[in-house]
This record gives sequence, structure tokens and C-alpha cells, in this order.
Amino acid sequence: MSDEHQKLYGQLCDHARRTALVASIAEILGWDERTQLPPAGGDYRAEQSTYLAGEVHRRWTDPRFGELIEKLLQTPLAADPGSGSAVVLRRLKRQRDKRMKLPQTLVEELARTAVLGQQAWEEARKRNDFPRFQPLLEKMIELKRQQAAALGYPERPYDALLDDFEPEERTANVARVLSGLREALVPLVAAIQASPRRPNSEILKRAYPQAAQAAFGRAAAEAIGFDFRRGRLDVTAHPFTAGLGPHDCRITTRYDEHAFNQAFFGTMHESGHGLYEQGLPTEDYGLPLGESISLGIHESQSRWWENFVGRSRAFWQHFFPLAQRQFPEALQDVSADDFYFAVNDVRPSLIRIEADEATYNLHILIRFELELALLEDGLKVADLPGAWNEKYRQTLDVTPPRDADGVLQDVHWSAGLVGYFPTYSLGNLYAAQFFVQARTDLGDLDAQFARGEFRPLLEWLREKIHRCGQRRTASELIQDVTGKPLSHEPLMEHLRTKFTPLYGL
Ligand code: ZN
Repeated sequence: MSDEHQKLYGQLCDHARRTALVASIAEILGWDERTQLPPAGGDYRAEQSTYLAGEVHRRWTDPRFGELIEKLLQTPLAADPGSGSAVVLRRLKRQRDKRMKLPQTLVEELARTAVLGQQAWEEARKRNDFPRFQPLLEKMIELKRQQAAALGYPERPYDALLDDFEPEERTANVARVLSGLREALVPLVAAIQASPRRPNSEILKRAYPQAAQAAFGRAAAEAIGFDFRRGRLDVTAHPFTAGLGPHDCRITTRYDEHAFNQAFFGTMHESGHGLYEQGLPTEDYGLPLGESISLGIHESQSRWWENFVGRSRAFWQHFFPLAQRQFPEALQDVSADDFYFAVNDVRPSLIRIEADEATYNLHILIRFELELALLEDGLKVADLPGAWNEKYRQTLDVTPPRDADGVLQDVHWSAGLVGYFPTYSLGNLYAAQFFVQARTDLGDLDAQFARGEFRPLLEWLREKIHRCGQRRTASELIQDVTGKPLSHEPLMEHLRTKFTPLYGL
């Protein structure tokens, strides 16, 4: 291929990498805002962040950048669809085209409504006052309809919004997989509910001093492979992970001295996100080859370490004696079996983020159905609290006593994140299906976990998933790695295998 093409491709990559550099500075400010920023610093931080967001948008929509993409797509650099350059060109074009389709006025209106919406939501939740939030949510849903119309969609409006979080995924496919999951999951949860066996979950509410929790969580994160030379663990109110550069990944958690699960499984969860970030090819940072595939695949990595590893019996064979040494007061009279049952307590509840491994996906199904109905089927925002409560009653047999514990519990819709919820369940489903393959490829994983050995498992993820960057879409990846399209069966099999003996089903 010609030097001229190589030169233009170099310019294109420089542009993309510089855009990523600006975006990473915005990320650092975002991390700081959520972990360090004094309250009075918020207004000026908003100005800083808005400035950088504008800069990123300007760079994406720069006509010269568009010309480079279009020109290079006509060259041999785009000819072999599997080549690195073709992947870069295809993904950059896709992202840029989406940005170009949205009118500036709509982008600004969405950003403004998201800020006002979150403020109104926070007040409304505090005061248990849905009507206070209703007008802003109505406005947001209307804007999301406009956004879907501007972007266009293959089959239905929800496709356009889902694509922001799960590129190239279709609503119909998600609905098919999730409805299969619902059909199998509801009877399993009912059977667990009917079982007379219950774990003693009180042992997880004993005294767990924060310093000991921090040390224990950090040791577990290190054991599964999180690299603290290239990352940090800090405290925040709403845990998250932020990749701030090729060698700088921040994970966060929060502590409650009378709730073991929160910080520990939170740290395992965010470490899973962090391991994915740390496993992306650093030489391609700032290009699609160095970026994660989708939120669903990202969530598969967090759930992998949190649930498939961290809530397994073999994991606690290794870690429970260490936990007993770290928390002698709380755990000296507790057996490993009782502890394992307690961290696997299944209990239908009102709050998504506190839900167990089995009922969690039912919380997601409810949100998925409701946002579809809001966007496409004429469900009125005014009728949303009633619809929410009705679905909780039908699906989980619980009724929120007040909207603050019901329809007002999540920030997502207020911030314009419509189409986001299903990625949580997709993550669980991907993780389960990948895990079956890892067991086939790596042999007796339980024996490895019991020895505190996680390296082979992490290497497997690195090779099959992390290093791939965006060379494949999520559905291509699951097909390539497991030989099958996404299905609800592996997750159900995992849940049945775990809960049947625990609850004597
Ligand atoms: Zn997550």
C-alpha cells in the first residue's frame, strides 16, 4: 500500500488518540468529582467538564476527520475487514456518523435536561415525591424519542437507544433472550422461596471494621490479578470504575461496618471492570482496537469475578480462613459452609442494587419492559409508578411501600440513560456462557480457586476477550468464543447447580 495512504492513516490515528487524550482528562475530573471534590467546588467543575465535553464533540465532528475516514475507506487499508486498520476505520465511521446525525440543539437539550433531571430526581427521591420529577421525566422521554428518530433504527426506536450501550444489538434479540430467562427464572425463585432452608444472614451484619475490610478487599483484588501499580482503589458514594489512561485504572467502593457484602463484592465487581480495562491492548489506547466492546461485555467481566468466582464455594475454601483471621470477632464461630450459604442468600427484594444473583435479573426485566412501554407503547409517565408497583407485585411478589423504594430508586432515566438497563442482564448472560467455555478449556477451575490460583483464568480472559478490543461486536465475540449465540441456558444452569443443593430443591 502507498506511503500516502499510510501517512493519512497516521494522521487519522493521531486525531483519534488526541480526542481520547482530551476525553481521559475529562474522566479524571469525573473521578475526582466523585471521590475527592469538596461540595463548593461543584459549579466550577461543571464548567471544566462542559468545556472538555465540547472539545471532544468538536474533535469528533471536525470535517477534516470525516474526510480522512471517507478517503481511507476507499483504500486497501479498508479492504480486509479483519485487519486492524479496517476495524479502526469501520468503528470510527460508525461513531462519527451517529454524532453527526444529532442536531446540536437536541444534544444541548438532552445534556441540560439530564442535569436538571438528576437534580429533580434526587430531590424527589429524598422527599418521596414522584410528581416533582414527573415533568422532567416526560421531557426526557420525549427527547429520547426525538433522538431515536434522528439516529434512525433498523426495526424499532428502542434499537437506536440500545445501540449507545450495546452497539449493533437489537431489541428483538434482547427481548427474546430475556423472556426465555424470565420463564426459567421465575419458577426457580419461587422454589427457593418455598424452601424451608434459610441461611443465617445475620453473620454478615456483625462488626466488620472498615480498615480490615479495606485490607481484605484489596488482598482479594490483588489475588485475582488487579495491578495496583497501574490502578487505585478509593472510596465513593456510588461505586464505579474509570479508565483514565493506558496505565491508570481507578476502582472504587464504599464501606458499611455492619454489612460485609457491600464493600467486598463491590470491590470484586469493580475489580472485574478494572481487569478488563487493564487487559485492553495499551499500544492501541485511544483507538477502537484498544477499547471495550460494549457495556454488556464490560458487565460480564465484573459479574464474572463478583459472582462466578467470588460467590463460589471453591473461592471461599481459599479465602474463608483468611477472612476469619481478618475478622476474628465476626467469624470465629462461623463455619465455611454457613458463610458460603450466607453470601448466597436469595431473597426477593425491592431494591435492584441489593438484589442477589438469582433475583437481580428480574429487576432488570421489569425496567426493560417499562422503558420499552414508555418509549414505544404509550405508557404515560404519570402512570409509571402504578405500572412499576404492579410489575413488582407480579414478578417478585413484593410491593414498594413508597415510590422512593420503587420507581424512584435508580438514577438512569433521569440522566437520559434509556436502553442501558438490559446491559446488566446481558452481562450476567455473557459471563455464564463464557464461564462454561472457560471450564471446558481450563479443566478443574474449582481446584485452582481452592488453591488461590486465578492466573490461568485471567489469562484466558485476556486472550479471548480483553486483547480483542473492538475487533468483534458482542454477538460475534460470544459466537467466536463459545461457538453459540447468546442464550439464557448457561446462566440458568449455573443458578440451578448452585441453588439446588443449598436450598434442597
Ligand atoms: Zn458493573
